[in-house]
Amino acid sequence: MRNSVYYSIVIIFIFIYSKSSIAQTSDLVKKLIKVEENQYFADRDSAYLDPYYGLKKLYYGNLRFAENKSIKPRQTDADLKNNELGQKPFATIIGCADSRVPNEIIFDQGVGDLFITRTAGQVMAQASYGTIEYGTEVLQTRLIVVLGHESCGAVQAAMKLPENPPGHVVTLINAIKPAALIAKNANLSEKETSDLAIRQNVIEQVSLLRGLEPVLSRRSEKGEVLIVGAVYNLHTGAVELIEETITSLPKYAVVKK
Ligand SMILES: [Zn+2]
Repeated sequence: MRNSVYYSIVIIFIFIYSKSSIAQTSDLVKKLIKVEENQYFADRDSAYLDPYYGLKKLYYGNLRFAENKSIKPRQTDADLKNNELGQKPFATIIGCADSRVPNEIIFDQGVGDLFITRTAGQVMAQASYGTIEYGTEVLQTRLIVVLGHESCGAVQAAMKLPENPPGHVVTLINAIKPAALIAKNANLSEKETSDLAIRQNVIEQVSLLRGLEPVLSRRSEKGEVLIVGAVYNLHTGAVELIEETITSLPKYAVVKK
């Protein structure tokens, strides 16, 4: 009897610990983007005009998904077929090609809401840059989210620092390597090292986009586009908006009214 009580306590402790070690969007970020308690919806037109509001819309959509309250907006056959007049997405997502991270589903958004480019490890090169700039200049998307995810195979491959990756995979490995090295040098457990590399990879990609000449650097500096990072948790379904990529910008430290 005493043993079973003991084991129960240990199991509860492990459960609490494993839950608490899963990163979630911080209270500070929630305050900055004005997340409201018991709220699950944000207006689409406002999201298109204000990138902070767009971020809140993505937050609420992901909250619905994580809590099994998805509404699958604008996803009917009619919605798919009634787009001949063009598209007006409110956010650009730069995500991983991983088949377990379908962007519209995890953010509970619909047809025409998200402009998406996906590669393994969300590594970007010329064609991706052109796609993102098209989203900004032509579609006037004001919010850009770099979305990494837990258990990313591309990041895990880069962590092994392979000497001769096959074919063009070398492009992915080389792009992720700086983040992998930072994580490896942090002397953490295997899981923590992997999580740090994934997070660091996103932070570096956000930084790269903010400085990307000639379009994004200018628009980002003027505050015309908001470029932030996030990490999706495959276990909980929750997307963490990375605080460092939101509070690190003086121009964005105060949410515009
Ligand atoms: Zn991945």
